[in-house]
Amino acid sequence: MSPFNRLADVLYPPACLRCHERLRSHRGVFCVTCLMSMPRTGQPICQRCGVTIPGAFDAAATCSSCRRRTLAFDAARSPWVYAGALRDALHLFKYRDHWRVGHWLAGEMSVYAAETLSVEGLEVVLPVPLHWLKRVLRGYNPAAELARRVAETLQLPYQPHGLRRRRWTATQTALPWRGRFRNVRDAFAADPRYVNGRRVLLIDDVLTSGATAHACAAALRDAGARDIFVLTAAHTPTAST
Ligand SMILES: [Zn+2]
Ligand SMILES: [Zn+2]
Repeated sequence: MSPFNRLADVLYPPACLRCHERLRSHRGVFCVTCLMSMPRTGQPICQRCGVTIPGAFDAAATCSSCRRRTLAFDAARSPWVYAGALRDALHLFKYRDHWRVGHWLAGEMSVYAAETLSVEGLEVVLPVPLHWLKRVLRGYNPAAELARRVAETLQLPYQPHGLRRRRWTATQTALPWRGRFRNVRDAFAADPRYVNGRRVLLIDDVLTSGATAHACAAALRDAGARDIFVLTAAHTPTAST
């Protein structure tokens, strides 16, 4: 350890960003107790939407929701369930601007993508865009931060302009499931220059109903995208069972 790092440790002892428990080094973000209360996605998963299918033995299974619905993306994957301490971690990243949390989330997402998707064939990484006014009000798009880092880690081209919002949409959280799909229908447009004929990895923070990812994927298909995979940090426990 360099003298500078030793001095930094004395002046600013490394601490868990969630519970402030002392950490051994500045490289850590959360303590073991907090990490243990971030529920990982259990195996086996639905090959389509990526949620755990409890009691399933077939690794090629799809969940009951995916058997009933038609989604425009090929597959979605999330390393965590949106619950417990993981909700706090995402909150720290999105609303308190903790870039170290974003960096860490993106690293874990990249590892999970490499494990559960064939990332070698992917050609471009895009974030789910924010409406420009929301981006200005917030200062940045958290999905774009994650996408940029995932692209860097997986050594894939990052393209922030591949997708754009065509109109303002109401916040999804206030709407019932069906309303969410209606709310974002035709809300996105994709630029064929960046996606035509390509295998695309679309990044967002949380997959809830799948409506936003579906609407983005529909726009990407219209622009000629060949395969569309979705990678989010977490999916809600009730996304589909
Ligand atoms: Zn902690
Ligand atoms: Zn599914």
